[in-house]
Amino acid sequence: MTTPKRSLLKIILLGDSGVGKTSLMNQYVYKKFRAQYKATIGADFVTKELQIDDKLLTLQIWDTAGQERFQSLGVAFYRGADCCILVFDVNVLKSFETLQVWHQDFLKQVDPSNPEKFPFVLIGNKVDVDGGNSRVVSEKTAREWCEAKGNIPYFETSAKEDYNVEDAFINCAQIALATH
Ligand code: GDP
Ligand code: MG
Repeated sequence: MTTPKRSLLKIILLGDSGVGKTSLMNQYVYKKFRAQYKATIGADFVTKELQIDDKLLTLQIWDTAGQERFQSLGVAFYRGADCCILVFDVNVLKSFETLQVWHQDFLKQVDPSNPEKFPFVLIGNKVDVDGGNSRVVSEKTAREWCEAKGNIPYFETSAKEDYNVEDAFINCAQIALATH
């Protein structure tokens, strides 16, 4: 019997410091949540294997080690990305406003042949905080932003409560696969 070939997909997480990128990745890959993460994780990426229909995939998920504070992630981080997950915190307006910069930076660095069709996913994280009472960005506002950027899929998540996290990553893999 031959071993079926796995496709490798590179997924990168972008967004302001503190929005929960590392937490989302840890929740999805290790099913763990911590109140505090060290700024450095020691590796450029983690991998997760999964199957979509009859396709075997290896997701290579790239997280930052805190350099996003200086908006300088380097070429290796962006190179060859198949999908980009943009993350903001629904309780922090600034993190939503800065999405514009992350989105533009990404397109500038990666320079995809068809920027309108490049697979992005938007995540509005931390919907659990204060039972939703401290949120400042509504789902409607986030969805409008996604529409304006060419119908980017949108997910509201809580890395803390493991709400919608897997769905967001799987959707990302699906759309990346479709354009791979
Ligand atoms: P990063 O800088 O984008 O990687 O953000 P982190 O993953 O380090 O998270 C920043 C802080 O927010 C940490 O204290 C996390 O525990 C916390 N955090 C992350 N996701 C959530 C969430 O969904 N809900 C709540 N309540 N806190 C979260
Ligand atoms: Mg982090």
